Amino acid sequence: MAQNVRIAVVGSGYVGLVAAVCFAEIGHSVVCVDNDERKVKALQGGDTLIHENHLPELLGKYRNGRVTFTTDLGEATKNSDVIFVAVGTPQSETGDADLSYVEAVAAEIARSINGYKVIVEKSTVPVYTNEWIRRVIERNGVDKHLFDVVSNPEFLREGTAVEDFLHPDRIVVGSDSPRAAELLRAIYAPLTEGAYYKQEGHITGICNTEELPPILLTSTKSAEIIKHASNAFLALKISFINAVANICEEADANVEQVAKGMGLDARIGPRFLRPGIGYGGSCFPKDVSAFRSVAEQMGLGFNLLAEVERINEQQKKRFIAKVRSTLWTLRGKKLAVLGLAFKGDTDDIRESPAIDLVQTLLAEGCSVAAFDPAAMGRAKLELPEGPNCKYVCDPYEAANDADALLILTDWAEFGQLDLARLNKSMRYSIIVDGRNMYEPEAMAEAGFHYTSVGRPSAH
Ligand code: NAD
Repeated sequence: MAQNVRIAVVGSGYVGLVAAVCFAEIGHSVVCVDNDERKVKALQGGDTLIHENHLPELLGKYRNGRVTFTTDLGEATKNSDVIFVAVGTPQSETGDADLSYVEAVAAEIARSINGYKVIVEKSTVPVYTNEWIRRVIERNGVDKHLFDVVSNPEFLREGTAVEDFLHPDRIVVGSDSPRAAELLRAIYAPLTEGAYYKQEGHITGICNTEELPPILLTSTKSAEIIKHASNAFLALKISFINAVANICEEADANVEQVAKGMGLDARIGPRFLRPGIGYGGSCFPKDVSAFRSVAEQMGLGFNLLAEVERINEQQKKRFIAKVRSTLWTLRGKKLAVLGLAFKGDTDDIRESPAIDLVQTLLAEGCSVAAFDPAAMGRAKLELPEGPNCKYVCDPYEAANDADALLILTDWAEFGQLDLARLNKSMRYSIIVDGRNMYEPEAMAEAGFHYTSVGRPSAH
């Protein structure tokens, strides 16, 4: 029988909420805290508020049972042994991580500590954050033997967050205290020792369904750096293939063939070698910037990361240039936009390159009819509906009478459109595909002038 640990998760966003229901799924009792009262009420009522596979079913299963929701961090602290901090760590104006939410939570936890507690950094934070948390708690009068601070970075991807949490590639636990490390080991034991995967009705994952996830024990600082370095490396991979895609465009080569040839090398691997309109989301842009900032503060230049960011910005500009070069002038052009989320399978539009591109196109005088399967509600807050910006119910309505159709998010359904129907409804048969969802030859055969990323245009 797995050990049931009393857990508090602070922050009920993409990471905190998923972690909370997944900890319940592997047998623990969880109280999930947020200081947004509206959010807590909605979650108590069974509304997940975010679009994530399996989340509604898990919330339905555990709400008011093994998972409860509250705004009261003090009570949650008193009633838990391990407190996961999963609040936001956004980018500050100077480029580094804004840790004020983490600090506020640490101070509040300190005021309610009533016995030994393990405070876990689940948020993505720069190296040394554990020491600051420790200092804040001690400054609030807590004896240093009454708590430990552990780093347990989260690697889930939005869109597959629940599967990723329950089938991780690895679990990293950075702890300088054997006692705290043992508690974390016990929490994850149903995954690392496999009992969860034998459970009837367990949620299956996309990868690593055969092997048990390894748990990697490190120092706290190493764990903090593992997370930043991993995200920076993934962003680097994306910028790298985007830079290669641009060379392919100039040389009339095909980046998909190049990426395949590179990816077959086991040392490189095929994942994250997908060219497009640049990375976005709530993690990569801020984490690359924060990691660069950490290096700079240490007197170590990390210009490689500045270049990763430059290529990413350039990629959006290149996309606009492509739209311009297919349409000649932009003022007054009617564009169908497919996709607003920063990637497929999520409603998250934070730092979405799609939103950025639509803003530029609107400023250039285009009008836009946009469709996204999940992100339109959030997008309306950034791009309000108006005479030049409307939201429609499906891709065909977006395409109606459009001068061109732009694919900006890699939702699988955008790769399965009824091309004949689309062609009939558009004013001009022009597609600019920022996600390489189609084969150029097939699009030419279907009667489109088709431009994508890093591949010869077809018409
Ligand atoms: P989010 O914005 O979706 O959620 C953060 C939540 O914290 C919000 O609900 C907010 O109301 C709450 N909060 C803020 N201050 C609080 C306080 N003082 N007390 C209680 N609640 C408070 O953010 P997220 O996407 O879940 O990310 C959280 C952290 O996890 C970030 O550091 C992020 O970098 C990291 N991370 C995110 C992802 C991802 O894919 N989203 C993946 C891995 C790691």
